[in-house]
Amino acid sequence: MKCPSCGHEQSKVTDSRLTDSGTAVRRRRLCEECQSRWTTFERMQTATLYVQKKDGTTEPYDREKLMRGIIIACGKRPDLLQRIRHQVSELEEVWATTGTVTSRQIGEDVVEMLRDTDDIGFIRFISVYYEYQDIETFQRELSRLVEKGSAPAVATGKKPSQQSLLDDAA
Ligand SMILES: [Zn+2]
Repeated sequence: MKCPSCGHEQSKVTDSRLTDSGTAVRRRRLCEECQSRWTTFERMQTATLYVQKKDGTTEPYDREKLMRGIIIACGKRPDLLQRIRHQVSELEEVWATTGTVTSRQIGEDVVEMLRDTDDIGFIRFISVYYEYQDIETFQRELSRLVEKGSAPAVATGKKPSQQSLLDDAA
C-alpha cells in the first residue's frame, strides 16, 4: 500500500489489533521513506444481500431489523437469542447465494427456524401471518399483538382475524 504522504510503496506495520468485536483488524503503518504514520482496517468482505419486498422494490438486507422482530416474538432470553443469531447467520448464507431474497422467503425461513428452536405456542401463532405479509407488516402485527396481550389466542384455539391483516396489506 502506497504511503499517503509520499507515495512510497514500502511500509511497516507497527501495531495490529482486533477491533469491532473481532470482525476487523486495525493496523498502524509507518512509511519507511518519510516516516509518516497511518491506519488501515481489514474487514471480511461480505456480499451485499438485497431484500425484494412485496411491492417489488428492493432494499439492503438489515439483520438488526430482522432480529428486532425475532426478539419481539421470543422475548429477551439471552441463551435462546444467541442460538437464534447463529441460525440466522446460517440462513443468511443460504439467502446470500443468490444475492436477493424475497421478504416472504425471509418470513417463511424465520418462522420455520423459530418452530424448530422454540416450542412456545406463540410462535405457532405467528405462522398464520407470514402467508399474507411481508416481513415488515408481520413484525408490526406482532408488536401490536404483544402490546394488546392477545398472544394467548392460540391457546384458546381462536384464529386471529385474517381480514384485518388483509386490510392492512391493501
Ligand atoms: Zn512516505
